[in-house]
Formats: sequence, structure tokens, C-alpha cells
Amino acid sequence: MKAAVWYGKKDIRIEEVPDKPIKGNEVKVKVAWAGICGSDLHEYQEGPVFIPTDANDPLTDEKAPLTMGHEFSGIVHEVGAKVTTAQVGDRVTVNPTLTYGDKREELDPYDGFSFIGLHGDGGFTTYANVPEDNVYQLPETLTLQDGALTEPTAVAVEAVKKADMQFGDKVAVFGAGPIGLLTAVAARAAGATDIIVLDLSDARLEKAKQLGATHVINSGEMDPIKTIGQIAPEGVDVAFEVAGVAPTFKQAIEVTKGLGKMMIVSIFAQPIEWNPIQLTNTGVNVDSTIAYTPTTFKQTVDLMGSGQLKLEGIITDHIQLENIVENGFEALTNDKSQAKILVELTGDSE
Ligand SMILES: [Zn+2]
Repeated sequence: MKAAVWYGKKDIRIEEVPDKPIKGNEVKVKVAWAGICGSDLHEYQEGPVFIPTDANDPLTDEKAPLTMGHEFSGIVHEVGAKVTTAQVGDRVTVNPTLTYGDKREELDPYDGFSFIGLHGDGGFTTYANVPEDNVYQLPETLTLQDGALTEPTAVAVEAVKKADMQFGDKVAVFGAGPIGLLTAVAARAAGATDIIVLDLSDARLEKAKQLGATHVINSGEMDPIKTIGQIAPEGVDVAFEVAGVAPTFKQAIEVTKGLGKMMIVSIFAQPIEWNPIQLTNTGVNVDSTIAYTPTTFKQTVDLMGSGQLKLEGIITDHIQLENIVENGFEALTNDKSQAKILVELTGDSE
């Protein structure tokens, strides 16, 4: 079977890989659709970031070269001898996180933490082997393409949950890439009334409006601090930092009201210089989030299934595996109007 295999920075190859036998606790998923994630893009542009290259990852026992892709859906094709609930033919989405696994709810994302598709072989191929505990049935109301969106959406849901949002909150989202856009959607579902989204790209801000932002600010053209001051004179209740650079980090704290919350969602590729006096003066709480707990992942599937999280417009392209570098990784690098690009593996044909 063909797969998109990461060998190194700017070196992702489409090549033939073996269809490995499943272990007792695994299911084999015939992959329908797989999204390209911002972290995949980091691996392509400046990797390795997470991908193990020297020693095997302790949880997957694999290292590069490996098949990428951690946002995927598909049909259960085969089940291992010890599998108890998943059945052949189930339409599923995959929670790609692997941890040491007593699934202590709060700590789970911090207990080990490897990704199917980054630390071990993933979904940019025809068949992916996944532990049974990592597959979730898709509700009838969700398509297989929706199933490829649950993973990044769960990141946003976790960020909103961890921010303890209340009905009527005013929020600012710094960065309108896919996770920023999904954070705006999740904040709206959680009852935010003012959702201010900031970015340097008008195309992305247009997308943010479509997805429910009440105000958009092009930070290159307007002063973010002043403009947010007009919308929320006391400051926003929660600011989400989804851009990952020094200016937005500081701005996100500055626009937050006293004792409010600034939530770091992005991955900072570079260290920043910053003076903590910014917190001393305001009591703003800075917190961070990564990925999601198993409960949040399930809630995300349910919230999408019930229509409370509406993601229309987030998918901006559908591409073929053969063209993943040019039409996927390069397109996401060069074209800011792209949000989520889905790769068609076996697609909707069951
Ligand atoms: Zn991702």
C-alpha cells in the first residue's frame, strides 16, 4: 500500500509500505480521510520536532522513517483477538494519543504522550493499526470527512474547557489558523458572546467570520490593544494564544481583564523574551493546554454529532496522497487562505 513517509525535513516520500499484522488489542482501520495538521507542517518545514529519529519511541517502538497522519477517520477492517467492542464495518474516528495508560483523566495528556502518526506510523496510507481504546464510533449524523476533523476540534474543546469559560464571556483568539478557528467555534458553543479573532491574513479573518467570530482584527493594520479596548473596555475574560510568537503572547495577556485567563494553545517553536511583571500588575492567570483527555475527545465527537459544534467551511481542499507535498504541505505553507486540507485515502466509498 502507498503511504506518505517522513524521512526528514522537506523529505516526505510517497512510497510502498507493508500492511503490518495487528496486535491483539488493535483494530485495523481502512483509512477514509486524513487531515494535515500544523504539527505535520512543522515536521515538514523544520523537523524533526516530535518525530523520533535516533532511538525508538518508548510507546510505539518505532522511529523515522514513518508514515505521518494523525487526524483520520475510516472503517474498521479487522479486529485483534483481544478486542471486545469494536466490530468490522464500524465507522470510526481515531484519537491518536498514546499514554502510559492508566487513563487518569486529568493527567492523561501529560502521562507519556506519543502520537500515532508522529511517534509511530499513522494514517496517510490505506490501513492503519490502532489500539481499540483509541477508536470512537462516529454518530450517524457525522460523515467520514467530519471524522477527520474530530482531532483538531478536540484540541480546541480542551482549551475552552480548561479556560473555565462562562456564558456571556468575551474572548479573544490570537491566530486564525485551523486551531484558532476551531477555538472560536468551541468558544461560541460554550456561550461566549463576543468572539474577537486576530490575524495578519484577511483571508483567514474572513473564514473566522464565517465560523462565528463576532469581531475580526487584522493586527497588521489595526492596533490590537486599542481595538479590543473599544470592544471590551475592561478586557476580555479569556484570551487564547494560538499564534505562538512573542508579540501575540504579550498582547494576549495585555487584553485580558484583571484576574482573567490567558490560555496558551500554540506550540512555541522559539523561546521568547518576556517580563513577568505583566502578570504582577494584573493578576492575569496564564495557563497552557495540549491535546485533550479521552473524555474531551468523546465529548467533541458528541458535540459535533449533535450539531453544537458547526465546522462548515473549515475544510478548504481535498487532495490525493500522491500530491500531498505540493498540494498539501507546500499549499499550507504558501497560501494563507487554506485552513484544513483533507487527504483522500479510500474516501467515502465503503
Ligand atoms: Zn493535529
